Amino acid sequence: MQLREHLPFDVREVMATLPRIGEVRHAIRQFTLNPRVNARARSVKTLAQSLGFSVEEVELPEGMNGRLTQDTWDEAGYRIEVNRFLSVEAKRFAVLHEMGHFYRHLRGDYDPFAEPMHFDPTGQTFYLDKSQEREANEWAEAVLFGGGQLAAAVGLHGTNLPVLAKYFGVTQRVVEIALSKLK
Ligand SMILES: [Zn+2]
Repeated sequence: MQLREHLPFDVREVMATLPRIGEVRHAIRQFTLNPRVNARARSVKTLAQSLGFSVEEVELPEGMNGRLTQDTWDEAGYRIEVNRFLSVEAKRFAVLHEMGHFYRHLRGDYDPFAEPMHFDPTGQTFYLDKSQEREANEWAEAVLFGGGQLAAAVGLHGTNLPVLAKYFGVTQRVVEIALSKLK
């Protein structure tokens, strides 16, 4: 199957959401361009932590995969909470989704001395804006599959969903959606 190489929202668009901080841009570029390290999908948690987010697995209301929490007392300032009942693959995507909210929707737009706040419109309690949900997913997909990585993996493995899902460390559904955007 002949696929387009780039997603509609791809590495270039991700870079435009990032602050002009070399370490941040470098870490995300490296993650995308080298999706596997030591024969495993690269750690999303390590990426998030290297960018200053703390990541915690917690019990969240049913239907909520993750949320971004502003925490004045946290060294990072932001904590990503991920639903501990999810699969590892779903947790990885949830953490990237929350980072997507941060870089596309929140950056620079908060008062660090305000009361701790929960962000992420996902889930019943904080459901605010469907387009922001889509945008956070696009950001996560671009970091996971952008820069031609998904097309390259299809070149190696074909469109075998279980194989591609394992390659990128995500659920088959996430691969399926990203593939549909390359057609
Ligand atoms: Zn969300």
